[in-house]
Amino acid sequence: MPQTSKRPERRYRSLAEFRVKNWQWSVRESRLLDPTFWPCVLCSGRGWYHNPDDRDPIEGYKLAPAHKCQACAGTGRGTKEAVKAIYDEIVAKFRADLTAWKEAEGHRKSGLSKLTQEEKNSLGL
Ligand SMILES: [Zn+2]
Repeated sequence: MPQTSKRPERRYRSLAEFRVKNWQWSVRESRLLDPTFWPCVLCSGRGWYHNPDDRDPIEGYKLAPAHKCQACAGTGRGTKEAVKAIYDEIVAKFRADLTAWKEAEGHRKSGLSKLTQEEKNSLGL
């Protein structure tokens, strides 16, 4: 089989799916089940954050204080617009990757179509 790069796959089908999957690690399930809850993008919906200056070389963030997020005043609640802006960037990147992939795939196919069967055989295609 000829070498082909994998077709880019879309990671999230919708903004709603992105909201749930991207913050599964930091937001409680009950909040993710609430479609009106949009996580604060600065603290990942937790309402607090760790300061890298507090990180211990051995203990990591285990003993580090949790700082209240100023952006959401500790609520963990952000705006749909801020979440959508990140989502739109991911979708734009996916579209660009897909366009580039289709173009490369087109070159590959048109290149292959110019080869004779003997040439293909000798290339192991
Ligand atoms: Zn926040």
